[in-house]
Amino acid sequence: MQFIDLAAQYQHLKQRIDKRIQAVLDHGIYIMGPEVEQLEQQLADYVGVKHCISCANGTDALQLAMMVLDIKPADAVFCPTFTFFATAEVIAYAGATPVFIDSDRHTFNISAQHLEQQIERVLQEGKLTPRAIIAVDLFGLPANYPELEKIAAKYQLKLIEDAAQGFGGEINGKRAGSFGDIATTSFFPAKPLGCYGDGGAIFTNNDDYAALFRSYRVHGKGKDKYDNVRIGLNSRLDTIQAAILLEKLAAFPSELQARNKVAAIYSTQLINHFEAPHIPEGYLSSWAQYTLKSESRDLLMSQLKSAGIPTMIYYGTCMHQQTAFNYLNHTDADFPVASSLCKTVFSLPMHPYLELATQNTVLSKLFTLTANATE
Ligand SMILES: *Cc1c(COP(=O)(O)O)cnc(C)c1O
Repeated sequence: MQFIDLAAQYQHLKQRIDKRIQAVLDHGIYIMGPEVEQLEQQLADYVGVKHCISCANGTDALQLAMMVLDIKPADAVFCPTFTFFATAEVIAYAGATPVFIDSDRHTFNISAQHLEQQIERVLQEGKLTPRAIIAVDLFGLPANYPELEKIAAKYQLKLIEDAAQGFGGEINGKRAGSFGDIATTSFFPAKPLGCYGDGGAIFTNNDDYAALFRSYRVHGKGKDKYDNVRIGLNSRLDTIQAAILLEKLAAFPSELQARNKVAAIYSTQLINHFEAPHIPEGYLSSWAQYTLKSESRDLLMSQLKSAGIPTMIYYGTCMHQQTAFNYLNHTDADFPVASSLCKTVFSLPMHPYLELATQNTVLSKLFTLTANATE
């Protein structure tokens, strides 16, 4: 059994993907070939924003956002402590201070309440300038953008949506990638929309930002890449990856449906046994992960492993617990909800090609184990 079965997906799409890759090999425009622009147009249309700028990976997408927003030392950028390292890394890499925020206990996403408290604290201390919020669509569930947008407006902060796990999610029909001033995503193979290597993209409705992103991703180019008007990066999406993504995007709507079907079965069967992230009314998750909470997580995981059922922990270490952020001198008491999530969460096999019989194997093993544990 696979945790995420990329091979099953490839078998399903093989003919079309092979043809796309062959087309790139035939035209030979490996860098910024026609597939890149075609994909950017289709992604922008799907998400419902004016501009999509592809780039080399989801971390670069966030880093480029820091560059476009001119995030500097003495700036404070707020982000959840319960996330993947890249979200916080790009803030520190820009020389600014990441200000970590606890999780909402129901959705596991950034807590709007704790966010506002921390913005007030930073303002009162007067050492750092609050500049931006990076919210994360954790495990595929969009963060609470209606609230976050209000807070961003109130304190005049830029809002960035880290939709690396969230592509395909929605709030009342508005799609992930369209929230905030800038949204970013990742095409890492295991993400909801993945390629066969590294890839990423940025979404924005702002024309000035879009022009800056296009410059920064190619060495701060002016009229061409040999005319350099600012310090940038080399962060382009390979044409071959764009070609693969064109086919993956075509299959994405039905895959998203399949993911939600798998999730619905897990949820109805497990609701009385485990706590899982709450999906608020009007929200759609892209189910990058199907995550549960258990006080006896480690025992459960090892028993599942013995039964041939793979599970993973996302995440076992919060940002405030990472060695690289020791210098911020946090303790778990600063983030009680997230610190407890790190100790209790684990994720079940989840992908669009998970067969019902396989899922039932996972469920019946989980039932046996939890029944034994509570006897
Ligand atoms: C995967 C991920 C990233 C980074 O994406 P890469 O393409 O691996 O660089 C950033 N943020 C979150 C929340 C992620 O899950």
